[in-house]
Amino acid sequence: MEFFEQPQVYAVKHKDLSTRMESRSGGIFSAVSDYVLNKGGIVYGCVLEKDFTAHHYRATTTDERNRMRGSKYIPSDMGDMFRLAKQDLENGMPVLFSGTSCQIAGLRSFLGKDYDNLFCIDIVCHGVPSLKLWQSYLKWQENKYDGKCIYVDFRNKKDFGWDKHIETLHIQTNNGKIKVVNSTVFKTIYYTHCALRPSCYYCPYKSTIHPADMSIADYWKIDVAAPGFNDNKGVSLVLLNNKSAVGMFERVKEVTQYQKCRLEDSMTLPLKEPCKRPSRTEQFWKDYHSLNFSKIANKYGGNSIKSRLKRFLTK
Ligand SMILES: Cc1cc2nc3c(=O)[nH]c(=O)nc-3n(C[C@H](O)[C@H](O)[C@H](O)COP(=O)(O)OP(=O)(O)OC[C@H]3O[C@@H](n4cnc5c(N)ncnc54)[C@H](O)[C@@H]3O)c2cc1C
Repeated sequence: MEFFEQPQVYAVKHKDLSTRMESRSGGIFSAVSDYVLNKGGIVYGCVLEKDFTAHHYRATTTDERNRMRGSKYIPSDMGDMFRLAKQDLENGMPVLFSGTSCQIAGLRSFLGKDYDNLFCIDIVCHGVPSLKLWQSYLKWQENKYDGKCIYVDFRNKKDFGWDKHIETLHIQTNNGKIKVVNSTVFKTIYYTHCALRPSCYYCPYKSTIHPADMSIADYWKIDVAAPGFNDNKGVSLVLLNNKSAVGMFERVKEVTQYQKCRLEDSMTLPLKEPCKRPSRTEQFWKDYHSLNFSKIANKYGGNSIKSRLKRFLTK
């Protein structure tokens, strides 16, 4: 399959608002995966498990696919999904495989050849944070409220809007009540970039050239690229990287509102270069291993009284 030198660029919103609200950005993943499922195909993507780890999964129904919606800001365990996808491809099933660019590159390398019945989507990502850190964070929240976490939304778009990044946890406390915790601690540590997987600092896919047929992202530059298109409910940036993606977009575009855009108006850091490894990364991990999580939350997660007061006063 030949790839374009530069992708074709679209701003996309799914026409069905509830689909969009369940999706991280504009719902393009649902549009493409609905098409594949309607053809009797298989969809591979990341789901959040009951223990709040992330795993790749094979879906044949809409309900199973729905679990793949939403960004999980932790590494997704691939299990034996590459092997299953190969089996499906060899059996002639239409297959949609979604994941980070490195996962798609891994799949292509595992398969070793092109398949006409394979369509790949990669998510533009600026790096995947440590699972260990996520688990320590969850434990810290559970201890704080003396309960067990029963629900996680890594980025609660429904209550706070697409442009805000607030994580919501539901914690079932030991007296049977549900405590709703809206927090910015995990995302603040994530955005320090101290806790990314080491290979993310050298990611070769931090450019406009991607290993998937279609690349999707939050369209953060939407107000420049397509003024008036943004309603703060989520817009997908869609990059069509080859003819197969152009064909797919032709087939699904009627369930969306879309606008052709210019690549140069759409560029964000992950389309240019990997995140730099911060000089305090070693100190961060030293602190992580020697301090309790409250201190990590204060020092790196903006949870100190001073930081909280500052946020309150600048609201
Ligand atoms: C770790 C991570 C970092 C990100 N960083 C950026 C960024 O820097 N800039 C930006 O614009 N957008 C970023 N995103 C968001 C990403 O671009 C959106 O997930 C994408 O736009 C999907 O939009 P959608 O509306 O079609 O959503 P959805 O329907 O919500 O799409 C979900 C898709 O994301 C995949 N997915 C979810 N979590 C993971 C995971 N942990 N590993 C692999 N695949 C996963 C699912 O398989 C599915 O294909 C990031 C997402 C993740 C998971």
